[in-house]
Amino acid sequence: HAKNCGKNNAKLYSSSLTMQIMSHVKLEVGLRKALRNNELFLLYQPQIDVPSAEIVGVEALVRWRHPERGLVSPTEFIPLAEETGLIVPIGEWVLRTACKQAREWQRQTHRAVRMAVNLSAKQFKDENLSQIVISALQETGLEPRLLELELTEGTLMDDAKATLATLEQLRRIGVYLSIDDFGTGYSSMNYLKRFDVRALKIDRSFICGLPQDSENAAITRAIIAMAHGLKMVVVAEGVETDEQLVLLQQYGCDLVQGYHLGHPVSAESIMQQLVGEAVDVR
Ligand code: C2E
Ligand code: MG
Ligand code: MG
Ligand code: MG
Repeated sequence: HAKNCGKNNAKLYSSSLTMQIMSHVKLEVGLRKALRNNELFLLYQPQIDVPSAEIVGVEALVRWRHPERGLVSPTEFIPLAEETGLIVPIGEWVLRTACKQAREWQRQTHRAVRMAVNLSAKQFKDENLSQIVISALQETGLEPRLLELELTEGTLMDDAKATLATLEQLRRIGVYLSIDDFGTGYSSMNYLKRFDVRALKIDRSFICGLPQDSENAAITRAIIAMAHGLKMVVVAEGVETDEQLVLLQQYGCDLVQGYHLGHPVSAESIMQQLVGEAVDVR
């Protein structure tokens, strides 16, 4: 699998350019209807605390069941949603659905599991963002500290002044902020220090070649050391093997996420894992 480092699933279609443009337009028309036709749904991937081996969080990952094409990957439709501005209503739906689900697990299992939601740059720049976040929390009753918003370096570094103001609003609400795909974009170390972000998620392209790839190993160790120096939590994404897990544990990585720990699955399946864990541990 090392050859696939950092790559997403191959495109399902890509014949001629005309075909691609046509599919793009069709997809856009379809995406406009996806929300109200209930074609979107969420899967949840566990985030495991390394020392205790317990699920402490999950990441919500959106899926689109297209009536003709079947499942469409978010790597295909999220960029389209961003271009068209549809990401704002879609993102709001994701946020509310995820908060509701986290609250539901908490009610049923009496465990406080943090819900991580991906936020795209357009949503971060939306002037209504904090109001949308506040409403989602109030309407579902989820505690702010149990909502994690994943931002990318690109989102944060685009306009540092505006970013600081938005981060301050989010900090006041009390949500947990993290930087996704860390190491693939451009981060200013100076801003990293000033931004009140709790966690760094090391991009899976660095985890992928471990333990053999000594350069990726050096980068991973350096990110962990830097994050800990800044009193931040570190999450490794894309952990696929036990060897990777053992190495990350040696490096002092706090949380792990990836196929080795669990694929993105239904809410029901996460529920069973949470209940099962409680029985196992006690
Ligand atoms: P991401 O936020 O970095 O999410 C991690 C992606 O890696 C997910 O792909 C997940 O299924 C995949 N993954 C998890 N573990 C492994 C592993 O061990 N190996 C490999 N090869 N892959 C793994 P997915 O679900 O296809 O999502 C792709 C991207 O789409 C996400 O990357 C995120 O940027 C975006 N996305 C997904 N859902 C949303 C959403 O609700 N809103 C926004 N704005 N973006 C979303
Ligand atoms: Mg993410
Ligand atoms: Mg990521
Ligand atoms: Mg990503």
